[in-house]
Amino acid sequence: MGFDNIPQYWRRANVYLHFIGSKCKQCGKTTFPPLPRCPYCGGEMEKCELPRGGKLLAWSVVQLAPQEWREQAPFIVGLIELDDGTRVIAQITDVSVDELKEGMRVRATIRRAPEREDEVIRYIVKFVPDWFNEE
Ligand SMILES: [Zn+2]
Repeated sequence: MGFDNIPQYWRRANVYLHFIGSKCKQCGKTTFPPLPRCPYCGGEMEKCELPRGGKLLAWSVVQLAPQEWREQAPFIVGLIELDDGTRVIAQITDVSVDELKEGMRVRATIRRAPEREDEVIRYIVKFVPDWFNEE
């Protein structure tokens, strides 16, 4: 499971990734994806850049996916705690489920989303193991 099969293009695209969430102007809590209103206190939120690193708290394997994701199933969905404490639910990729460990370091990466009928190319944030920063 190396990185050799990831086209150069993606590795370069990754450099430009801004991992954007939102931060509450009242209570300071952060969310991903960004929201207009704070789910904790109802305050107004503004966009902010989130740390790309975090740790994996829990995960589960999705066997039966919605239509546009069906070709990717089964895939892993994880609960991640970013280094600033923001909790994110996102797909975990480039790893097999038996390699996952509770608390392991992961980092955000940008990947192409499955195509829809409109054929517009979309990108989504997924997480990969951060083997080089393992504690
Ligand atoms: Zn708030």
